[in-house]
Amino acid sequence: MSMQEHYSALLESLNTTFRSGKTRALSWRKAQLNALAALVEENQQQIAEALEKDLGKCQAESYTSEIGFLLGDIRHTLKHLSGWSKPRKVSTPVVAWPGKSFRYPEPLGTVLIIGAWNYPFQLVLAPYIAALAAGNCAVLKPSELAANTSAMLAELIPKYLDGDAVCVVEGAKEETTALLALQWDHIFYTGGEAVGKVVMSAAAKHLTPVTLELGGKSPCLVDSRTHLAVSARRIVWGKWMNAGQTCIAPDYVLVEKGLLPAFMEAITEELRKQYGDNPLQSDDYGNIINPRHLARLKSYLEGQDIALGGEVDDIANAMAPTIVVDPAKDSALMQEEIFGPILPVITVDSMDDAIAFINDRPKPLALYLFTDDKHLEDRVLSSTSAGNVCINDTMMFMANPELPFGGVGNSGMGSYHGQAGFDTFSHLKTVMRRSFLFDAAFRYAPFSDLKLKILKKFL
Ligand code: NAD
Repeated sequence: MSMQEHYSALLESLNTTFRSGKTRALSWRKAQLNALAALVEENQQQIAEALEKDLGKCQAESYTSEIGFLLGDIRHTLKHLSGWSKPRKVSTPVVAWPGKSFRYPEPLGTVLIIGAWNYPFQLVLAPYIAALAAGNCAVLKPSELAANTSAMLAELIPKYLDGDAVCVVEGAKEETTALLALQWDHIFYTGGEAVGKVVMSAAAKHLTPVTLELGGKSPCLVDSRTHLAVSARRIVWGKWMNAGQTCIAPDYVLVEKGLLPAFMEAITEELRKQYGDNPLQSDDYGNIINPRHLARLKSYLEGQDIALGGEVDDIANAMAPTIVVDPAKDSALMQEEIFGPILPVITVDSMDDAIAFINDRPKPLALYLFTDDKHLEDRVLSSTSAGNVCINDTMMFMANPELPFGGVGNSGMGSYHGQAGFDTFSHLKTVMRRSFLFDAAFRYAPFSDLKLKILKKFL
């Protein structure tokens, strides 16, 4: 059997499960969510070890951004699933009285979830929690670049979950291309923009809807009216977690010229507090996913004036937290998503110039603003566009499952987390139930001037 035939057969068997109605039962979905929680709970050590091997993640980071995050997501989903699954009543206009209108959630069918390497466990399972909660079958395709996590998912998923309804396919471009050729009911992709276009074109052939969780350069504005020490602490946390390999890490900072010395001092001090004098030796500081990505990051530093850091450990495949002040706007560092531990700090004359800088560029996935000035906050919110915004912190919107997470424009389309994820993997079917009690004659032919008058009044 060729690879393509093998995947077709796999999809067919998942579709058969879906058609059997098994995955629609609320009791099945809840039992599977509990089994997924057990998978995460019981294998914490193995998960942390795989993440350590792939990315040098420390235990605390693995817990907050992958293990604990997923457990929280499952808990939240289990708590609200019955409510989300109920028909959602909406009002009915007079013309349809007596009658009732509602939106009836139904699963889409069999979905394909393609994950990225930077949070390789969470980025496959968080969308799956939503897909499962909504009652879908799924194929999960983890990133081949995080090979240990991918293999672990392929080993654990069949041990805990219903193999008739979910399956892991490991592989890279060739395997993903073969999967993308098939007719899915939804494709959920997390990764870079270029492959996002490949995914969307493949989906278009079957009119398959897509969710694209992409990236981009997320700006961070630091106003002079801010609590600088706390701002620096939170920027260091958001930028250098996972060695900067986070889609919503601040990509670059915009500060007013006058604030630059104090800002640099505060960041330097915070870096020292969090990662010590030699971050490359810190157990809490991660490495770069592979030598190719390290080479990419090193190339961004060529010809740059490094204000802080810049050290590289080729053996451990790591780069120290690094800051470049005012790199050329047309340098690769300011043209491409950095996705690593380099932070450009761009000085501007005013926060209005910072807003203009952002609006000159593609819409980012995240935007951060540090300020005590409510007027500036309003100005930034009303005059810029971004997938997600956090004021006076970085990345913390991820901690609230009530907040949908997703991009806009080049940073993606669609969203998930909490109910948004459930809705992404559901079709909210429109249903109207009419009563036989009353049947207004004016709707029906033969029409007359009087009927037309009544119609005009009601419609
Ligand atoms: P990646 O290399 O792991 O690729 C993502 C997925 O696409 C993988 O599963 C991979 O196998 C598959 N793939 C790669 N090339 C392919 C091809 N030619 N055809 C079909 N499939 C292919 O990850 P990446 O693209 O390096 O990820 C980094 C990007 O992802 C960054 O831009 C980052 O901002 C973004 N990202 C976004 C989010 C989010 O939630 N929005 C989260 C993490 C990462």
